Amino acid sequence: MFFGDRKSTSVRILPMLPLRDIIVFPHMVVPLFVGRPQSIKALDEAMKSNKEILLAAQKKAVIDAPSPSDIFEMGTVGTIIQLLRLPDGTVKVLVEGKHRARINRYLENESHFQCEVDVLHEEYERSIEFEALMRSVQSTFESYVKLNKRIPPEMLMSTAAINDPARLADTIVAHLSLKLLDKQEILESIDPKQRLERLYEFIQSETEILLVERKIRTRVKKQMEKSQKEHYLNEQMQAIQKELGDRDEFKNELEILEEQVQEKNLPQEAQERMARELRKLKMMSPMSAEATVVRGYIEWILALPWNEYTEDMLDLQRAEDILGEDHFGLEKPKERILEFLAVQKLVQEIRGPILCLVGPPGVGKTSLAKSIARSMERNFVRLSLGGVRDEAEVRGHRRTYIGALPGKIIQSLRKAGANNPVMLLDEIDKMSTDFRGDPSSALLEVLDPEQNHSFVDHYVDLDYDLSKVMFVATANSLDGIPMPLRDRMEIIEISGYTEYDKLNIAQSFLVAKQLKANGLTDVNVSFTPDAISTLINHYTKESGVRTLERQIASVCRKIARQVVQKDGEKPRSYKVSDKRVVKLLGPVKFRKKSQADKGQVGVVNGLAVTMAGGDLLNVEVTHVPGKGKLTVTGKLGDVMKEAAHAAMSYVRSRANELGLSSDFYSLVDLHIHYPEGAIPKDGPSAGITTATALVSALTGIAARNDVAMTGEITLRGRVLPIGGLREKVIAAHRMGIKTVLCPKENEKDQHEIPKRVLESIDLVFVEHMDEVLAHAMETEGFQRLLETVRNHSVDLAAEDLSEITVETSSSTH
Ligand code: ADP
Repeated sequence: MFFGDRKSTSVRILPMLPLRDIIVFPHMVVPLFVGRPQSIKALDEAMKSNKEILLAAQKKAVIDAPSPSDIFEMGTVGTIIQLLRLPDGTVKVLVEGKHRARINRYLENESHFQCEVDVLHEEYERSIEFEALMRSVQSTFESYVKLNKRIPPEMLMSTAAINDPARLADTIVAHLSLKLLDKQEILESIDPKQRLERLYEFIQSETEILLVERKIRTRVKKQMEKSQKEHYLNEQMQAIQKELGDRDEFKNELEILEEQVQEKNLPQEAQERMARELRKLKMMSPMSAEATVVRGYIEWILALPWNEYTEDMLDLQRAEDILGEDHFGLEKPKERILEFLAVQKLVQEIRGPILCLVGPPGVGKTSLAKSIARSMERNFVRLSLGGVRDEAEVRGHRRTYIGALPGKIIQSLRKAGANNPVMLLDEIDKMSTDFRGDPSSALLEVLDPEQNHSFVDHYVDLDYDLSKVMFVATANSLDGIPMPLRDRMEIIEISGYTEYDKLNIAQSFLVAKQLKANGLTDVNVSFTPDAISTLINHYTKESGVRTLERQIASVCRKIARQVVQKDGEKPRSYKVSDKRVVKLLGPVKFRKKSQADKGQVGVVNGLAVTMAGGDLLNVEVTHVPGKGKLTVTGKLGDVMKEAAHAAMSYVRSRANELGLSSDFYSLVDLHIHYPEGAIPKDGPSAGITTATALVSALTGIAARNDVAMTGEITLRGRVLPIGGLREKVIAAHRMGIKTVLCPKENEKDQHEIPKRVLESIDLVFVEHMDEVLAHAMETEGFQRLLETVRNHSVDLAAEDLSEITVETSSSTH
């Protein structure tokens, strides 16, 4: 009845194993893991008889202890092929489905389910309809397998071999991923035809699902691939565009460079070199280091003035006016410069010696050179040689060095923008030499008119014509200039300024300049002469006017601040008096020697010329009882030793007349000290100063404080000539000295000294040391000493003499 006509049934009593989540079909071999005690007992029961067991699925897998109502009625009778008890108490069992079976009723049993079942033995009749159905199922299953990667293709072979439609359906359904209920439905379809039809539907829908899935997958994949591809292509495109763009830019740049080279009007050699370098550059990658080097080189060559020059103006009157306009005094240098320019005009070419302005700082060397350039309407460039000690700084580095650049000469020419500027070689005496080569030898080539029309800088590596450049050098002292260089230059010495000069320079130039520089032109600011004198005498100590200018600037700044702070309140007018200067700048820094200052025993004013111009140089002598040791200290120690010894010899030869015992030198230790640090440029010439200091110390008679002296001394006391008289006398004047003692032989240089200085200073020309002493010693005390000596006509030891001088030295002359 239930199974229909073509099925026979048999009733059996079998233990039952409830399955979770799986349906076992006939002909299917599956391993099952069994853990529930009831189920294990059912298995045991089966094993005891013919190993047959009913496999029926639970309706809900989660139920642990199912009751009969939780279990589908339709199941499969299976045979246990293998049973394996695992150590954890569970059992692994391999079963093979045999026949469908329906549970009729559950039998009473404590330990496991025991059921009475109707076992279905299927039979069928072959028909065309079955055949057609089977084929359709098989072909849809084939396409399903093709789509589903999880089913091995061999499956198709085994299903193709099945002739039994019921078996075919059961075999195939086992491989479909259907829901449990669907599978149960197939299990329960007892009619093979109906079963096949239902299966066919399932396969169809599953195949469709797979198809859609595949479509989605490929679409997603395609989309992903597409966006990846797009991204990649975009990147590539950008890279290519960048490359193309750069190339374009580079090409443009090359074209511009080429044009510039053509327009530049370079000398033949340079033109050829440029063509070669451009060719090289074209082959290079634009961003490479080599390309940068080559580009840099080409740019340098293009930036140099090869044929560019300024038209010369050689109008002497104009030059004279300009020099006068810019500078006060400096008559001699101005004259020399005008002579120099006159010669240029006649020769029409600068081939003569190079001008070298030598003088202390701040005397207007640079500004004279600037005026020369202005008067000739040439461009002006300044090139500092101070501290240069490498030849490469003058002549450049070869291009093989990383970061190589041209030397200072070529760099300055680029700055000048014309090939005939006035080039100021500043501080030519401050170059030094070391292992990197001698910069002065490179300069020699620069300054030599025979060679400098083809000057070769290591970097430029092309002949450059320097012959049109007008070189003007400056130096503080002649000593520092290497002899070969000095030979090539025409030296113009500029000495320091007197107070009068400084006052004039300040009033006519510096004040106006600083007012402008500090934005005070609209404010009515005036400096009284007293204010400037105060600045000169109490805030500066120099031969030039540089510090003076700085101090004026400092006053101007302070006034500027006041103007800004009080803007609008006060009339805009400021008068700077000497008192105001002190108020603004603080306590005075230097004091002039005043007559009230007393002379000291053993201290004598000497005069020297240093880098910074003339200066007062004190010589100090002390003595203590001893054994005739002579110590000389101070920065000039060694240089001065000779002068000290010569002076000592003189004093010894005059011991008698000076009232010293004939062996006084062996009873005392003498210490001579030259305190001021500055080093005189042309020899110490402090012979007579040292001798006077010795006499003063030994006799205990103070030397006059308002007297200064300069001169060498022979062993017999003759006074020898010195250099730099003008500088020294100006310095003495600056320091408030009244009398200057100088060698008779220097009388010829007297005309160099400004008249104003001579008016306030007594120049005494001396031939012998005795005259020096007569003028330099505190006269009254000295005369009294000589008298005492004569009256007593006793030899007194130096120590005794110093006692006599206690009273004498207190008297001022
Ligand atoms: P140097 O080169 O000798 O060290 P500078 O030429 O730089 O000195 O001069 C310093 C300052 O002093 C400049 O402002 C300059 O104009 C000024 N100066 C120097 N001497 C004179 C002078 N005789 N007349 C006018 N200004 C001068």
